[in-house]
Amino acid sequence: MNSKVSVRGIHYETGRPVEVFIADGVISAIQEIQATGPGAGEMYIAPGLVDNQINGYNGVDFSATGLTAADMLKAVKAIQRDGVTTFHPTILTNSDENLIRILSNHARFLENAEISESVPGFHLEGPYLSPVKGFFGCHPEQFLRNPSWDEFERYQDAANGRIRIITLSPELDGAMEFIRKCVEHNILVSIGHSNASAEQIRLAAGNGAYLSTHLGNGCANLIDRHLNPIWPQLANDLITPSIIADGHHLTPEEMKVFYRVKGPDNMILISDVTHLIGMPAGRYTYMGNEVVYTEDGLIKNPVLNVLAGASFPLSRGIGNMMRSAGCSLWQAINLASRNVSDACHLPDVGTMAPGKRADLILFKLKNDAMVVRQTWVRGRKL
Ligand SMILES: [Zn+2]
Repeated sequence: MNSKVSVRGIHYETGRPVEVFIADGVISAIQEIQATGPGAGEMYIAPGLVDNQINGYNGVDFSATGLTAADMLKAVKAIQRDGVTTFHPTILTNSDENLIRILSNHARFLENAEISESVPGFHLEGPYLSPVKGFFGCHPEQFLRNPSWDEFERYQDAANGRIRIITLSPELDGAMEFIRKCVEHNILVSIGHSNASAEQIRLAAGNGAYLSTHLGNGCANLIDRHLNPIWPQLANDLITPSIIADGHHLTPEEMKVFYRVKGPDNMILISDVTHLIGMPAGRYTYMGNEVVYTEDGLIKNPVLNVLAGASFPLSRGIGNMMRSAGCSLWQAINLASRNVSDACHLPDVGTMAPGKRADLILFKLKNDAMVVRQTWVRGRKL
């Protein structure tokens, strides 16, 4: 392949019209142009978004044991159309047997280049999560367990070494040693669904856990106002939290405070979207429980009184952050692109600059909401 193409748009950071030149799937140059040329000045251009946590899409559940490569490809295409060009499929708490099956299926799907170009590896959320009600959220309680490196190694073997991130609760027996093992093996550790004390969070960060999964969620509805796991994760400068900025999971005030505390470079947006995105509102069985999916995009387990993932694409959070946290367009986009690739060690993506992969989105702003109109993956227009 030796294709040379270019694409024009308004640079999301500078606000000036640019032409982005692409050679062999990589950005070769970015030049400012006059606004009057054909195609210029119409849509914004930005790097493709990077999502650290997608549980499924358009009816395709990534934690289903019977998933096929065709299902996965369908989901990847829908995710790309919504502006996300790199993501970690997220596999949730399950039985030992099912985790082996699910992870080996996903590892096999990566033999398909159309899938693997957007999937650098997997995020395992669980099964080493708090067994306390409210904190484990919708994860199936009967499969929660303490961390075991031997067990995890079997999962990593099944995944052909492609588990890149694990969300766990550091207060569980054996968790600190497990975190050190992860760091030794280049597995990124994220604190989540956790009722850890300030001391346990400090120790976890000292051992190398440096991400928080959907901070402010995966937490009981009623907690002590002083002694709870949220403040210590906010206060710890070693920790970069992810948040779900869909408008349901956090209040506008929380989004603003989290952003102000962590700063524009030290927080990331995730969608945490489930397979129910793109499906009609109604009642569904999800993770073994009945959930109610309402017209306004809320997915809730009414028995446990907890949210069960989100239903909006990552792009939704960008407008919400602009409105709630007062960040600029480029800062909000960086939360969902550059910051994620930095935090997840994906140096080829998440930035629009020469030498980076030509993963690009063209979009408009409608009442501050990002509307993705075109996606480019490795210099190919979808
Ligand atoms: Zn979760």
